Amino acid sequence: MRVALIGWPLDHSVSPAMHNAAFRVLGLPWSYTLRPTPAKDVATALAELTAQGFRGINITVPHKQAVLCHLDEVSEAARTIGAVNTILVQNGRLLGHNTDSDGFLRSLLEAGCEPHGRRALILGAGGAARAVVYALGRNGCRVTVYSRTSERGRQLALDMRDAGISVSVISSLTEVCLSNLDLLINATPVGMWPNVNASPWPDTMPIPSSWTVVDLVYNPEETRLLARAAIAGASTIGGLGMLVHQGAMAFELWTGESPPINTMLAAARAALKQKH
Ligand code: NAP
Repeated sequence: MRVALIGWPLDHSVSPAMHNAAFRVLGLPWSYTLRPTPAKDVATALAELTAQGFRGINITVPHKQAVLCHLDEVSEAARTIGAVNTILVQNGRLLGHNTDSDGFLRSLLEAGCEPHGRRALILGAGGAARAVVYALGRNGCRVTVYSRTSERGRQLALDMRDAGISVSVISSLTEVCLSNLDLLINATPVGMWPNVNASPWPDTMPIPSSWTVVDLVYNPEETRLLARAAIAGASTIGGLGMLVHQGAMAFELWTGESPPINTMLAAARAALKQKH
């Protein structure tokens, strides 16, 4: 059986290493390959992979939204989030899911962070932020989103409202009341390799030691934001856990097998080390 990842570009991806390690350790005759796909070729790529008998497809930047209109069914979560990162091919039908959202939730719970009753500020309003808002909003967390582009934040709030999730949106960090928060989540690419000295949280703004700070960026594993939060005494959670759990959930959807999380984590970490 075969599964593939489509996106553009794909040089950064550690998903083949992570999934192929999992297939090997369980003795499954499966393989995970990259299929670099420019935007104009998304529909063709989906049709060809289906015709070639691929069982599953992962979707990454920049096609997570664009694939929606090519699918036969889309889960309620993926529809609300507005993005699909995993497709299961069943009898020639394409079924779309979003495992980023539950992958994020699992990474929080694994780190001992229960969202219920918390007050979160999410930095960014893109696809990853939408998956995080959905996960937190459905699990009893009060959510504020910081979006420097007002229209993007407004649209996020409208889409989530339709799913019964209430979101406050701010367009400047000066509007933040630190004492009203206990969870800070970076869902922007700021701080990602090679711009490792950048941080989405201004140095002039404190990080209370009572906070949990989460960075979805996983390369580097400890971002500048997380290093600063740790020095301030806050709890920290990196993005690698989310990466592994979203992959593990896709693995389970495709194979029906229980995913070997530790193998996937070790393979992803080793592949990241080789990237630079
Ligand atoms: P995206 O759709 O491009 O959204 C990025 C968001 O960040 C946008 O709202 C953008 O605002 C905002 N942003 C970018 N630069 C900013 C800056 N300097 N200051 C303030 N806001 C800024 O990207 P995405 O797919 O959501 O991914 C975001 C990050 O999450 C990436 O680093 C990605 O690698 C990471 N991620 C991690 C996982 C994981 O498994 N750990 C999964 C998915 C994504 P504008 O709209 O104004 O440009």
